[in-house]
Amino acid sequence: MAKFAEANKRLFERVFVCRRCKTKRKADPAKVRNSRVSCRNCSGKALRPVRKK
Ligand SMILES: [Zn+2]
Repeated sequence: MAKFAEANKRLFERVFVCRRCKTKRKADPAKVRNSRVSCRNCSGKALRPVRKK
């Protein structure tokens, strides 16, 4: 189970979703916080983590 948790972390923790067009984007959380990452599809900078919590 520990391995599974690790995999989940890797798969979901660095994935963000564009608030405008809902496109998933893999990015570094630090970069997202500094809004240095933009959406590939609409080049919007409003990204949220893929898990809503
Ligand atoms: Zn977008």
